[in-house]
Amino acid sequence: MTWRPVDCHAHSTFSDGALTVAEVAARGRARGVRPSVADHISRDVARTIGSVARTREYLDELERHAVLRGGEFCWHDALWRELPDDVVRRFTHRIGSLHAIHLPNGTLVRAFSRRLPAGLTPSMYMEAHIAEAERFAREMPVDILAHPTLVTLPFRGHELDDLWTEEREQRLVDALFHGRIAFEISNRYRPHERIVARAVARGVRLSLGSDGHTAEQVGLIDWPLGLARRLGVADVDLYDPTVHDSRVFHRIGGT
Ligand SMILES: [Zn+2]
Ligand SMILES: [Zn+2]
Repeated sequence: MTWRPVDCHAHSTFSDGALTVAEVAARGRARGVRPSVADHISRDVARTIGSVARTREYLDELERHAVLRGGEFCWHDALWRELPDDVVRRFTHRIGSLHAIHLPNGTLVRAFSRRLPAGLTPSMYMEAHIAEAERFAREMPVDILAHPTLVTLPFRGHELDDLWTEEREQRLVDALFHGRIAFEISNRYRPHERIVARAVARGVRLSLGSDGHTAEQVGLIDWPLGLARRLGVADVDLYDPTVHDSRVFHRIGGT
């Protein structure tokens, strides 16, 4: 059987995607990838799965289709902490997202807000962001960190070195390594190559994700796959929920 990549991150109408679960699956297969659905499970996203009961319904639906069963959980929201083990076990893989981070004074800074707290510099923000990522990697039972280079809107497009110093990159990939969490190469929020190379050098596994929300986007992982290959990563070493053990299940097992 020929190897086919997994699109570990795509959205359906259960959260903010435009396609049904069946359509996400068909779209992925048409693009030659193994499809998964990873909808938002959080109380702090506009269109989302916002309760344990709704999460069960979502998994019921995914189990009716030939798709891998993912979920994208906001680190800053408490819903992931409330899911009972029997629900957690039904996911093939879980994705954590830093859609918001706390500053040392407790202020929440959202990734998709255009407003910044007064006086916040890129450097202050990034120090808080990395500290939050380190806490995330220690505490959150997930297999993948989504779009690891996503920063708050006002700082996107800033000079790379104002945001991602080599020291900050190293702290992030060290945290993922120790947490056994894969680094997502997102087609939607594309990481710079230097940090992906650093993740590879550290021994952090890579995961491919379209973060697709529409028919045009779902299953589109040529760019992430090309980058992984260019960095010398073998196809079979890319994160595959059906092959690689899940950190989540280890946690539940009490190890
Ligand atoms: Zn996200
Ligand atoms: Zn997403």
